[in-house]
Parts: sequence; C-alpha cells; structure tokens
Amino acid sequence: MREPMIRRVCIVGGGTAGWMTAAALANKLNGLSIAVTLIESSEIGTVGVGEATLPHIRAFNKTLGIDERDLMRATEATFKLGIEFRDWGKIGDRYIHPFGDYGPAVNGVPFYHHWLRLKSLGDTSRLDDYSFPIVAAEQNRFRHPAAEHDRIESTFGYAYQFDASLYAAFLRRYAEANGVTRLEGKIVDTALDGESGHVRSVTLADGREVSADLFVDCSGFRGLLIEGALASGYDDWSHWLPCNRAVAVPTASAGPLGPYTRATARTAGWQWRIPLQHRVGNGHVYCSSFISDDDATRQLVENLDAPMQAEPRQLRFTTGRRRDFWKANVVAIGLAGGFLEPLESTSIHLIQDGITELLALFPDRGFDASDIVEYNRRMSLHYERVRDFLLLHYVATQRDDSEMWRHFRALTLPDSLREKIEAWQTRAYVVPYEFGLFLPPSWVAVMLGQNLMPTGYDPRARSMGDNALAARASAIRQEVAAAVRGTPDHADYIRRSAAAGSLAQRAPAA
Ligand SMILES: Cc1cc2nc3c(=O)[nH]c(=O)nc-3n(C[C@H](O)[C@H](O)[C@H](O)COP(=O)(O)OP(=O)(O)OC[C@H]3O[C@@H](n4cnc5c(N)ncnc54)[C@H](O)[C@@H]3O)c2cc1C
Repeated sequence: MREPMIRRVCIVGGGTAGWMTAAALANKLNGLSIAVTLIESSEIGTVGVGEATLPHIRAFNKTLGIDERDLMRATEATFKLGIEFRDWGKIGDRYIHPFGDYGPAVNGVPFYHHWLRLKSLGDTSRLDDYSFPIVAAEQNRFRHPAAEHDRIESTFGYAYQFDASLYAAFLRRYAEANGVTRLEGKIVDTALDGESGHVRSVTLADGREVSADLFVDCSGFRGLLIEGALASGYDDWSHWLPCNRAVAVPTASAGPLGPYTRATARTAGWQWRIPLQHRVGNGHVYCSSFISDDDATRQLVENLDAPMQAEPRQLRFTTGRRRDFWKANVVAIGLAGGFLEPLESTSIHLIQDGITELLALFPDRGFDASDIVEYNRRMSLHYERVRDFLLLHYVATQRDDSEMWRHFRALTLPDSLREKIEAWQTRAYVVPYEFGLFLPPSWVAVMLGQNLMPTGYDPRARSMGDNALAARASAIRQEVAAAVRGTPDHADYIRRSAAAGSLAQRAPAA
C-alpha cells in the first residue's frame, strides 16, 4: 500500500536554484494541496553570478507560462546563439559553439562529414559558413527561429544572457503569486528524526521552527542539509577540472550587442564576457595552484573593454558533485548538489535537470529507496556528461605555454571521454550518451574548433560526386549568407520585439 502524500515541502535557499524549484513546484503540484515554503537569508545572500544559459531554459519558462518579453524586460536579458571560444586550440584561434547544427544532412549523413570530405578534396570553406547561428552571431544579428522546417533560419535554438539576481526575483514574484510562502531568516539548527534519520525541522535564528515532509536543499555551496545535516559526501573532481576560483566584475556596455557569450583562454584559466542589456558581466575562472589571486585579478582587469562598475569580487569553489544528491528526505539542487565551472553555462541547466527528475520521481512519505537510487543515478550521469564535455576544451588543445596547459597534456582522462575521443579520431563518429546534455553538433563544434581533426569520415559521405557535392555546399553557404543578410541587428531586434528593459533608453546604433 502506498504511503500518504507529501503535504509540506520546505525549500532551503532563495538563489536561482531555490526560486526555480519553488516556481516549478508551485506550477506542477498545483491542485495537490501541498504547501511549499521557501526560507532565505538576506544576511547570507546568494552567489550572485550565473548570467549565461542554455536553450533548454526556454522550455522551463514555457511550462510555467512565462511570456518571453516580460522575462527579458525584467531581467535585462539579451539573446544568445552560442559561445565564442578564443585562444583554446592555439593562441589566436577562435570558433563559436553554436546552438544549432551545421548545414542540413545530405542523404541522411550529417553535413560535417561531407565538409570533411570536401576539405580532403582541397575545399577551403569554413564549417562555420554552413551554420546560420554562427554567421548571425559573427555579425551581431538575431531573429527567432523560423517555424518552417525547410528554411535554414529554422536550424538553430537560442538561450538568454540575463541578470541572475533579477531572474531569481522574477521567479520569486511568480512563485509567491502561485502560493509559495517565503520566510526570511537564517537557519541555525536542523533536527533529525532519531528513527528514520530524516530531517524533521529547521530552526531559524529568531527561534521559529519549520517542519516538512520533504526538504529541497538549495542553500548553495555549503549544502546546509545534504552535507551539514546528512553528510552525503562530495566527489571532488579537481584532478580533472582544477579551476577553483573566480573573480567577477561588471563593466559598462561597449561596442555592438553580441548575441553570444565569449570565453577566452588564459594562462591559468579563462575569462568570460557576457553582454546584457544594461551592462556586461566579466569574470576570470582560474586555478589557484597556477596563479595568485592578485595576478588573476590583474589579468582580468587588464583585459576588460570598458570601465568597471564595481570592485572585482572573489569566489571559491571545488569542482565535483554530492555523492548522494537525494538522501533520506532531502534533495540537493543547484550548488548544494555540485558545481562544474561555468565554461559552457551548464549550472542553471543542471538545476533544471534536478527539478525535472524530482518531479518525475516525486515521492510520497514512504520515500521508496528505488526512486532515490534512480534519482541519484540520473543526476550523476547528468553531471558526468557535463564534466567530460568541459574537460574536452582543456585537452583538445595544442597549447603548452603555461603550467596549466602542460598539466592537461599529462592528464589521465575519464574512460567515458577517452572512448569518445578515440571514436572521433578515426571516422568522426560522435558516440551518443544516455542523458547527454550536449548533442553531437556540440561535440563536433569543440573538437573541430580546437583542431582535433579526425583521420576519416563516414564512408556514406562518398555517395555524391565531387562536383555535385561542391555545388550543394556552395548553395548552402549562399543560403546561410542570404538569410543572415535579412536578419536584424540584435539590439534593434530586442527593442522592436518589446523585450527591451534599459536598452529602450539607449540610442540605436547609427
Ligand atoms: C564564478 C561563477 C560563474 C557562474 N556562471 C554561470 C553561468 O554563466 N551560467 C550558469 O548557468 N551558472 C553559472 N554559475 C552557477 C550559478 O551561479 C548557480 O548555479 C546559481 O546561481 C544557483 O545558485 P544556488 O541557488 O544553488 O546558490 P546561491 O545563489 O548561493 O543561493 C543559496 C541560498 O541559500 C540561502 N542560505 C544559505 N544558507 C542559509 C541559511 N543558513 N539560512 C537561510 N538561508 C540560507 C542563501 O541566503 C541563498 O538564498 C556560476 C557560478 C560561479 C561560481
């Protein structure tokens, strides 16, 4: 017989993870008479970074019924077509990892195989020229994807670059309007049930006690319940991804509004640049064993392209994940569950995964052990897949100009990544992953973008004659170029689609 329903859920923490969870539970548990309470402490605050997202966030917002223009105005958001990587394969290299595929498949074979064949025949076109989102991003243009599937303008997705604190505030309004109760206060104690080992209640500094059937730990790096109370344990992945600090600073807007995030490799890490409507987010993620905090800050400041709007702020982290994301009656989501550096803007997506899996396996008060095992299995895979993809950026490189890059050259890779690279090197095959966030085109973008050239390609790409293939390729390039010429300037498009917050006050480019 099933146990009684969960009646009270307590979310600990009001950062992006806490308010995304609160908004989703308010929406998806509607009608089940489940009371959702969120506790946050303004004294502790939030991590306050997390500006670049992935296209999947649109599905999350859509299921909540959020209007895109409202969201963009409220969060000073811009559109994002991908990430530009500079100096990763070699100093001077640049490529864009787009949210979309390269060209249409020919005879059922992904287009990049045909491009590899063309290249072997002496063709010098860039693979990028077959990608609408790359060419549009390079020219700072944006439009929504076309609905008609036969048009090149339908072959991409997009995400947002937004102010994370404003996004959390936006979702707070949504969640509170949909019945979530917010409590302000600092949790100072946690009571466990002696028999079950479940968290029974948390106590705030002013003495208030909050009990619940299910707790969602969104308390950030500290993992107040999952680690502090339940000692889940942490798998430290620093031996693979050793960057452990960041320094972040906002600058004034400068130059054209790019519909993409930039990640520039440095000697001991990399620097991000994320253009929003009202400012640009910048930061330097680095490994403290290869550079001092002062030098890392200096490197960041020297490479800014506009005046700083605040003092640089330091953050520390350890890459890895909780051994059990879900233990007893506590589910850890967000930084409380783990952290992988923001090179591919994956953290908010992993929050979304945590919420989706929790809803799929939403428990009753019996807390079935097999549901917990399955949740932890799935979340572990989500994190491992992202880890491998991030690590690819550091190991598919010819750089050896600093201690960090030499460190990566000597690294023993996780088997899952080693196998993936081996399969690529012979016939350009991308082994698909179960629960893989990044689909083959993303792997292709990074592997080719960082000069990991395969020795062969899919033999089926020989189905077309040389001249016919060259003509087909030329037609695709022309189609992309013409479509981009007809695509509006990114900033103008935001203004015209009524999604402008402070951008509405800035004069359009002459
Ligand atoms: C340098 C850096 C750059 C990043 N860039 C990106 C990016 O571009 N894209 C992306 O997707 N992600 C990015 N992230 C990750 C992103 O910032 C986080 O995933 C996201 O902000 C979620 O954080 P959180 O809500 O889990 O934790 P936090 O923001 O830390 O929130 C924790 C909450 O718990 C509360 N709390 C803690 N202890 C207590 C207590 N005792 N009592 C009461 N309340 C308590 C706090 O008050 C706060 O409300 C980045 C992270 C870092 C470190």
